[in-house]
This record gives sequence, C-alpha cells and structure tokens, in this order.
Amino acid sequence: MGSGGGTSVEAVFFGTTTVWLSDGASGILIDGFLSRPSLLRVAFGRVAPDLGRITGALARAGVTRLDALFVAHSHYDHVMDAPEIVKHLGGRLFGSESTLNVGRGAGLAEESMTRIADGGEHTVGAFTVRVLAAVHSPGNRFRGTIDEPLVPPVRASSYRDGGCFSFFITHPGGSLLIHPSANFVPGKFDGLDVDVLYLATGALGVQPRRFQDDYWRHVVEATRPGLIVPIHWDNFFVSLDRRLRPLPPVFDRFAATKAFLDRRSEEARIPVRFPEPFEVTRPFAR
Ligand SMILES: [Zn+2]
Repeated sequence: MGSGGGTSVEAVFFGTTTVWLSDGASGILIDGFLSRPSLLRVAFGRVAPDLGRITGALARAGVTRLDALFVAHSHYDHVMDAPEIVKHLGGRLFGSESTLNVGRGAGLAEESMTRIADGGEHTVGAFTVRVLAAVHSPGNRFRGTIDEPLVPPVRASSYRDGGCFSFFITHPGGSLLIHPSANFVPGKFDGLDVDVLYLATGALGVQPRRFQDDYWRHVVEATRPGLIVPIHWDNFFVSLDRRLRPLPPVFDRFAATKAFLDRRSEEARIPVRFPEPFEVTRPFAR
C-alpha cells in the first residue's frame, strides 16, 4: 500500500452492510439501509424508506456527496433506501436488474442507473470497484428476482435477492474487499490482494463448525487481509439513533461468532475491529 495516499481514504459504517468510502474527491456507498424498520413491521406490516432517518443518519456522519452506490443484493436490508439516498445526494445506482427495479419504483431515471455483473469493473474517481458474484448466507427467505418496478410501502418479502455480489475496491491508498453476505464461492477470491476485509458475520454463529471453518478458509485465508472489520452483525430492527447491539438469538448466536472470530484471528494474527456507527475511520492508516 502507498505510504501517504492511504491515509486519505475515510470510511463510515452505518450498521448492517452500509459502508461509506471517500478519498475527499469521490464518495462511494456500499448498500443503502438507514431506515431500519422494527421487526414487528417487517414481519407483519409493510416497509418503506423513512426519509427522516435517512437524511438524519447521512447528516450525522457528515456525508454530503455521493458518486456511486453499489448494492450487494436486493433484500430490503441492503437496497431499500438506496434510491432515496441517490435522490438526496446525487450519484449513480449500481446493482442487479432487481436492484434497478427498486430504483425505477422510486422514480430514478435510467441514465442514473447501471446494471452490474460478475467481473465488471467500474471506475469512480481514483477508486476501481470490481464486482464479484457471491452467494447468499444460508437461510435466504426471500429468493428470486424483482421483475418490475417496486413501489413501497410493500411487504419486506417483496424485496427478492436478485443475485448477490461482493465488491473488491482498489485505490492508490490500498484495497478493500466488502463481503456483505456470510457465505462463499470456493476459489473466488484466490489471488486478491486485500488490505482490509469487511466481513459479513450475520447468521454465522448458527452455522455448523464445518461451515464456519470453510468460510474462514475461502474468504479470510484466500485474501490474507491486514485487518478484518465485521459487518452485518447488528440488530437492524433497531434505529441507528440507539446503540448498536448484536442480532437477537433467534437470528444468530453472536457470542459463538465472536468466539470463532477471536480464536481464528488470533491464530492468523489478523486484527479484528468491530466498527462503531458514524465513526470516521481511515482503513488504510495503520
Ligand atoms: Zn439478504
């Protein structure tokens, strides 16, 4: 990694898999989910972007501009607020055809959206974003595609996954792999040179030991990061105005995930840093 330029890249974590990156000249958001409706609403009601929560969270983090928003898959906890964020800040929405249908439902113009596919590379200022096909974590309840413009409020189950991606992001300052769903494609990440790994751990704690070990091997050992930042571990049925807490035991066993991460990262001598929401970090400055 470069010596001076690396410190210029800043990152902000917004809970779940929503991560902001900027080098001062260009801004990238991975996923867009700030509304965080309650479990009761998700289970029994309809969900829709909450503009107050969206603008409040962006303002609290000081995010005022956006060039590109990349959506990992079109479940509501990744995509739901993405079009509203683009409308609020500007920039271009990148995602699967299902994600673009969420954009169309929100009234985004075709000129401000780009469909992505495995292996595609997209330049955003000094950043290059490579799209890598991924698989959803086990227990995907809303499979399939969104085949027409989706206009909220709708049932959370209307947000079908539409295919999953990870994002390998390079910058003169360093490289990041954002891996938003806790599953793996064997061999997919071989040869990537990753400085910082944003690693999804959601529902990892309820997987068998064998799965956890395979996940570590095919994602962490394959990329040999200098730092792991766990993502998608927080209870996203609670507003970002409140302290982040782990997913409740019906969805995940956070203590088991934490113990696994502690043990494997210590063996591999890779530091793990759980992110604080809204905190501006410099992922390449170490
Ligand atoms: Zn999902």
